[in-house]
Amino acid sequence: MATYDVAERSAIVTGAGSGIGRAVAHLLAENGASVVVSDLDADAVDTVVEEISRSGGTAIAHVGDVADPDAASESVRLAIEAAPLGIAVNNAGIGGASATTGDYPLDSWQKVMDINLNGVLYGMQAQLPAMVEAGRGSIVNIASILGSVGFAQSSAYVAAKHAVVGLSKNAALEYAQRGVRVNSVGPGFIQTPLLDKNLDADTLEFLKGKHAIGRLGTPEEVASLVAFLASDAASFITGSYHLVDGGYTAQ
Ligand code: NAP
Repeated sequence: MATYDVAERSAIVTGAGSGIGRAVAHLLAENGASVVVSDLDADAVDTVVEEISRSGGTAIAHVGDVADPDAASESVRLAIEAAPLGIAVNNAGIGGASATTGDYPLDSWQKVMDINLNGVLYGMQAQLPAMVEAGRGSIVNIASILGSVGFAQSSAYVAAKHAVVGLSKNAALEYAQRGVRVNSVGPGFIQTPLLDKNLDADTLEFLKGKHAIGRLGTPEEVASLVAFLASDAASFITGSYHLVDGGYTAQ
């Protein structure tokens, strides 16, 4: 199994109670980071903290909403109690309503923006000063392939994910000389509860064929890329958008 140089620092992972965030939290903890497991769902947080602790890792529970800037500050406070903040993975996200742009319900538009885009900004506004203070840091924002291509009936999600890619590039430029790297990741369709909540079985089958590899990805395949970007081995990588999409956008 690959190893990642992420020890002797704390890491915040939002949306860590499920899917991609859970896999990232496990992989960072296995490699020695003290991980703040942050999620809206308190039971899911407890489960992941217990799983990590049972495997010998260090995990700290944080229940909070990424759409609340105070929750982001609290997660940073918890992280730096354990060790200097070196890693933040802004991962929490939702799918939003399925509708054409002309009819897109504004309440869902606002909710998707609050969580998928504003949540990343609030996270970084709390995390960046702590990383500058620590003298180093790596932020990985989870976008999507839909940060570079469209997907009919999903304007809010697609717009928010494109914005996360741009926001990450901008923060990277601003903080590169202060020791903080910022990248975004674009997963293809990954087998997680998010897909089960938003897409029916026929759509999932159709989507497999849109990936050149012919299947959906796993949370662990995304976590490997995230852990690499978070690690010291990625020391010259900042401001870029990295796909892990089984060839979806190559076609
Ligand atoms: P997931 O399995 O649904 O996990 C997301 C976690 O975030 C859940 O535990 C969810 O809690 C939590 N969450 C939702 N809203 C939150 C909020 N406001 N504050 C804090 N936590 C919140 O989803 P996933 O598939 O792992 O997705 C993770 C990220 O990857 C998202 O940003 C998603 O857009 C992105 N992504 C996913 C795919 C994919 O195909 N799965 C592809 C590309 C990108 P609840 O369960 O209580 O809602």
